Amino acid sequence: LKLNVANLQRFVKTAAAPLTVPTYPRGGSVKQGIVHIGVGGFHRAHFAYYMNQLMEKHGLADYAICGVGLQPWDTTIRDALRGQDYLYTVVERSAKGSEAHVMGSIQDFLFAPDDREAVVAKMAHPDTHIVSLTITESGYFYNEHTHELQSDDPAIQHDLDPANAKAPTTTYGFLYAALARRHAAGLKPFTVLSCDNMQGNGSITRSMLKTFANLRGDANLATWIAEKVAFPNSMVDRITPQTAPADKVALAEMFGIEDAWPVVTEPFMQWVIEDHFSDGRPPFEKVGVQVVADVHDVEQFEKHKLRLLNGSHSAIGYPGQLAGFSYVHEVMNHPDFDAFVWQMMQQEVKPMLPVIEGVDIDAYCHTLVERFKNPTIMDQLPRICLGGSGKIPKFIMPSIAEAIWATAPFRRLCFVTAAWFHYVNGVDDNGNKYELDDPMSEELQQKAAEGGADPHALLGIRTLFGDDLRNDERFVKELTTALGLIKKDGILKTLPKYLD
Ligand code: NAD
Repeated sequence: LKLNVANLQRFVKTAAAPLTVPTYPRGGSVKQGIVHIGVGGFHRAHFAYYMNQLMEKHGLADYAICGVGLQPWDTTIRDALRGQDYLYTVVERSAKGSEAHVMGSIQDFLFAPDDREAVVAKMAHPDTHIVSLTITESGYFYNEHTHELQSDDPAIQHDLDPANAKAPTTTYGFLYAALARRHAAGLKPFTVLSCDNMQGNGSITRSMLKTFANLRGDANLATWIAEKVAFPNSMVDRITPQTAPADKVALAEMFGIEDAWPVVTEPFMQWVIEDHFSDGRPPFEKVGVQVVADVHDVEQFEKHKLRLLNGSHSAIGYPGQLAGFSYVHEVMNHPDFDAFVWQMMQQEVKPMLPVIEGVDIDAYCHTLVERFKNPTIMDQLPRICLGGSGKIPKFIMPSIAEAIWATAPFRRLCFVTAAWFHYVNGVDDNGNKYELDDPMSEELQQKAAEGGADPHALLGIRTLFGDDLRNDERFVKELTTALGLIKKDGILKTLPKYLD
């Protein structure tokens, strides 16, 4: 049965097919308090899922979501959602089985290239309290090394030109135009809530938008944005792979729902948000979101997540793909990988992490292993591995650097780094070639070829590794040993040497 409002009550829950559908009002007097840019899989499984719970269980009626797409390919999500009254299904999969939850929290969608003015007007509307983002790292035009806006990017240049003020194309162009309109109308500014996976996501967005506003030349407005707009930092977590065609078929077969674009995710989800909003916020706490008073608290949670979850993903991804695996759970079902990931977390990552009151770090590690082993999520290794030049320096290197200072162990972390150094060559241990998906692919491959079994050439990329690590004898020795072993014997033969 096709998913739409008319059919909603015809979908029935059974013991074999647990299902929920929204029963709260949609449209009419319900206000759209949130405008979200980047309605990908993650937003639909995370923020929109929390909002669906707030509407269903707590009667919230002034924070429905209006989705916005800026990219040409967002016509696909526009058409999928419009064709089914903006309803869609989140399928939660675990080893215990599947549950389907039809979501009603997204209630409209604007595709910017259709009507850019409509997007600006929507954000500037007094009902809008929050503009949230999941626009991937590339959507921020953030130079990680200089920490500055990539202001010479043609898209940013286009939006900085006052002649194009009415036709912005980037997130900053839209935010600026809408905030300018609110400022002129004497309205409070909306909160800009980044939900992308970047440490200090709110602070980065604030800094980039402030630069953008300054470059536009209206100092008064730039100051208002910097001082009055809230950009809360947040830590987000819920593993959400790309939807596969087989997922649609499985949803139709098991639940009888014909959904043009469902989302498949895991039961686990987490969201820690700094409590800093410029125009009110939903009562997130009621549905388990951790709203914390201090930005420092968000940083601590982020540190745990980036080093334990994302760091382990790197430990699974690069060696796993080299060894010939395709999915995260397949790697974790190999006893050596299972032991390796656990020992790396416990012996090398955990000792460097801050203690967070109320957080049981061992329980968190156990949950991670359970999540990685979930056989139903089918999380693809290439998804985990892409953009390694942005991952290894953030997820692995900080643990190594701190372990060096503390004279603590870090050889497993070196094994992961060495695996990535070998991975960038684009050939696995069985001789199969794959595409290196990385913005620095050319430089990485050139340095890897130049260095061979000597890591110095890659370590010489200062923007990734700085100077300190390259000059640390113990680190270079461990890395050279691991790289040599991986090149000579392959991952599966080398791995046992890194186990207790
Ligand atoms: P996706 O490919 O399903 O969706 C990406 C969305 O970003 C699309 O709507 C796209 O149009 C938009 N986008 C891309 N580039 C943009 C740009 N330059 N300007 C504006 N919009 C742009 O991906 P996803 O799985 O939804 O992940 C999106 C982001 O969510 C990730 O980059 C990450 O920061 C965060 N995240 C994802 C997961 C996950 O497991 N998928 C987990 C935690 C956080």
